[in-house]
Amino acid sequence: MQNIYNLTLKDLENYFVEQGDKKFRGTQVFEWLYRKKVKSFKEMTNLKKELLEKFEQNFEMKTIQITKVERDIDVEKYLFELKDHEKVEAVLMNHDYGNSVCISTQVGCNMGCKFCESGRLKKIRNLETHEMIEQILTIEEECGKRISHVVVMGIGEPFDNYDNLVRFIEIINNDHGIALGSRHITVSTCGVVPKIIEFSNLPYQVNLAISLHAPNNELRNQIMPINKAYPLEILIDTLKKYIEKTNRRVTFEYILLKDVNDQKQQAKELAELVRGMNCYINLIPYNETNNIAFKRSKQETILEFYDILKKNRINVTIRREFGSKISAACGQLRSKKEDEDEIILHDRHRES
Ligand code: SF4
Repeated sequence: MQNIYNLTLKDLENYFVEQGDKKFRGTQVFEWLYRKKVKSFKEMTNLKKELLEKFEQNFEMKTIQITKVERDIDVEKYLFELKDHEKVEAVLMNHDYGNSVCISTQVGCNMGCKFCESGRLKKIRNLETHEMIEQILTIEEECGKRISHVVVMGIGEPFDNYDNLVRFIEIINNDHGIALGSRHITVSTCGVVPKIIEFSNLPYQVNLAISLHAPNNELRNQIMPINKAYPLEILIDTLKKYIEKTNRRVTFEYILLKDVNDQKQQAKELAELVRGMNCYINLIPYNETNNIAFKRSKQETILEFYDILKKNRINVTIRREFGSKISAACGQLRSKKEDEDEIILHDRHRES
């Protein structure tokens, strides 16, 4: 059975036309789902009974369940159980400018970034579009607040689930639906170059963030295997073209790992790497874990690194930390099965 939250507005319009009905029914249903946020087809009171019966036979609605919520100051972490009993997490952050949700796109991840425990669990499967949408709708229902921003930086590499990601963006961006503005949506990738090129052809003004984490190929090859497929010169060249084509600024995320990528020389190298690009660098203090040997940089080292970038006229911020106590901070998302009950790290959870 098809899930109704997988359908774009156009899909719904086509469905009704195929059924011999009017195209505008698509908009009506879309608004019931995303504006009035009904929980059953029966609540769609302006649709004919026969139509609703057909809907019930052809489509299902929500399939994911919250199994755990942990709270810290300005942050809530949600553990979801999917229909097939796999688990993913999403995080709600309360900012002065609104409420932002960081969603997952895969169960596990194949990218194998060395500082990220999510990568220790190989990808089990991609999330379907409706499972990404449902993370937002379910959190909104649970917390009773409007979600104004979405960051696609939870467990998984979004560009390794590209088609479902694009469908997700189309649905949440649609004016008849959740109507999240493109600039309130951020997608983060570890650097899947062919998909960055495809992404540049989309009509949306969605923000793009790149998990960079190293200023040269030698180090990036060691900590991010994706770099062997798409080395820095190819990645940076692609991003320059992306910026030129879309006229959008790119964010580079850079987790500071003690004595690995946090040295003064590396800050200078990083400044050279991105010089002249319309970008900013988001420095992320590392959250240590028992399972991975990397350590957090000292505060003074973080500030020195920041100062060098500033002196080189690079736009740079140090990420505000959220929810490290409940493992919801930068990258601390779960990937192991519940019986192992282990909270794991993921690198790309940032303020947006
Ligand atoms: S950092 Fe992201 S892309 Fe890399 S292994 Fe972790 S989840 Fe995958």
